[in-house]
Amino acid sequence: MADLTFKPVIGLEIHVQLATKSKLFCSCSTDYIGVAPNTNVCPACLGLPGSLPALNAKAVEYGVKAALALNCTINTATRFHRKNYFYADLPKAYQISQYDLPIAEKGYVDVSTEEGGSYRIGITRLHLEEDAGKLVHEASDGRLVGADQSFVDYNRGGIPLAEIVSEPDIRSAAEAKEYVTRLRQLVRYLGVSDGDMEKGSLRVDANISVKCSDGRWGNRAEIKNLNSLRALERALEYEIKRQSQLLAEGEEITQETRHWDDVEGVTRATRSKEEAHDYRYFPEPDLPPLILPEGYVEKVRNTLPELPWQKMERFMSSYELNETDAMILSEHMALADFYEACVEAGASPLRASNWVRTEVLRVMNEQKIDITEFPVDAAALAQLIAKVDDNKISTTAAREVFDTMAAKKVSLEEAMKICGVEEGGISGSDLEKMIRNILENNTDVVETIKSGQDKKGKKQKFLQGLIMKEARGQTDPREAASLLAKLLEE
Ligand SMILES: [Zn+2]
Repeated sequence: MADLTFKPVIGLEIHVQLATKSKLFCSCSTDYIGVAPNTNVCPACLGLPGSLPALNAKAVEYGVKAALALNCTINTATRFHRKNYFYADLPKAYQISQYDLPIAEKGYVDVSTEEGGSYRIGITRLHLEEDAGKLVHEASDGRLVGADQSFVDYNRGGIPLAEIVSEPDIRSAAEAKEYVTRLRQLVRYLGVSDGDMEKGSLRVDANISVKCSDGRWGNRAEIKNLNSLRALERALEYEIKRQSQLLAEGEEITQETRHWDDVEGVTRATRSKEEAHDYRYFPEPDLPPLILPEGYVEKVRNTLPELPWQKMERFMSSYELNETDAMILSEHMALADFYEACVEAGASPLRASNWVRTEVLRVMNEQKIDITEFPVDAAALAQLIAKVDDNKISTTAAREVFDTMAAKKVSLEEAMKICGVEEGGISGSDLEKMIRNILENNTDVVETIKSGQDKKGKKQKFLQGLIMKEARGQTDPREAASLLAKLLEE
C-alpha cells in the first residue's frame, strides 16, 4: 500500500458564560459559585406554570460586543426557539436558544501559527442561549456510573451563554488550542466573560474528522468534556491518531459523541442512545422577536476596547518591543494598562517591559495575586526604574527595594530606608574602607592571591563577590573591581 497521509479537519463549539449580573430570562443572580443549591431560582427559570421569560438586555449587548470583535455580521432581526429535550438538569424540559436566526454569523478570527505567521479561522455563528442546571452525582469520581443517587442544582439554569461555532478550518490540535486561547483572551478583554475554563465559564466541544490522501473521508466524532486547554490538545491528538489508524486499516469511522477521559488519556464513545435527539425546535411563543433598534450595533461597536492583537501591534510599533514581549504584555488588558501607566510615568519602554515581564509577573506568581491587586503601583515602579536609569542605584539594589515594596506594601522611600539603600550608593573612601575591612577578614585569601597562586582569578572573584554582597548592590561593580585590584597590589 502506498504511503497514506491523514489530514485532520476540526471545528469547535464554544460556550461562553456571559458575565451579566442576572440570568438571561429572569432577574435571578448569576453568582452561583459556592452558593447553596437551588437558592438562585424563581418560577421563570424553574419553568413553573404561569411564569414568563423577559430578555436580559445586557446579555444581548455582550453577545453583540463579542460578535463584533469576531468580525461577525449582526442580525438585527432575530428570535428565540425552544429546543426540547427531557433531562433532569432542565426543569422546563426545553432550553431557550437560537436556531435559524442567530444574533450573529459569518465572522473570523486570526490566530498565530507555530511557523510564526497567522491563519484565519471562520466563525459560522454566535448565538445566545440559556445554560442548564447542574447534576451532582454521588460517585466520588464525578461520574454517573457507580453513583447511587444524583442531585440537581438549578442555580446555573438560565445563566446566559454565547455559543460560538467555528468553521471546520482548524488543522491541528495546537491550532485548536491557539484558537481557544485567543477567544478566551478576547472575551476577557471585552469584559463579557471571565473565560475561566476550570470554573466552566468557557466550555469547548470539538468536532473532528480525518481526510485520507487517497480521497477517503472519515465520519466525524464530537468530543465532550474538554475542560482545560491541555485536555483539548491531548484529546484532539489522541483522536487524530485513532481515526487515522482506523482509516489506514480500511475501517469505517463511526459518527458518534465521545467523552475525553483525562486520567486515562483516551476518548470513549458515549452510549448512542444519549445522542438520538430530535429537539423539535419551534419559535418561543412567550418572547417577541428580537429587533435591535437602529443605531444599536454602532453604539455597541463604539464601546469596543482596543483588541489584544491591535494592542500588541501598537506595543511593537510605538515602544519598539519585540513580538514575544509585546504578546506577553498584551495578554491581559490590566497587565497592559499597568505597563503603559509605568511608561507614561516616565520609565523607558524597554526597561519597563523587562521589569513587568520578570519582576512584576514573578511577584504576582509568588503572592498568587492579580495585577489589579498588585501592591506596587505603576508610578512608583516607574520612579524606581528611573533611579536605575540615572545610575542613582544599582539594578540589584532596585530589585531588593522592589521586593520590599511588594512584600511589606510600603512606599518607595520607606522601602529604600528599610533596605538601607541610598541614592548614589557606596563609593570613594566609603568603598575603600569597606574593601579594606573585607581584606583584613580574609587574610588567607589575600595571601594566596599575593603569592601568585590565584592563576585563574577565582579568589579575586570571590573577594569581589563579598564586596558586592556587603554593598548589597549599592556600588558600581567596575569601581569596586578596580579599587580591589589596586588595594591587593599594596
Ligand atoms: Zn430565575
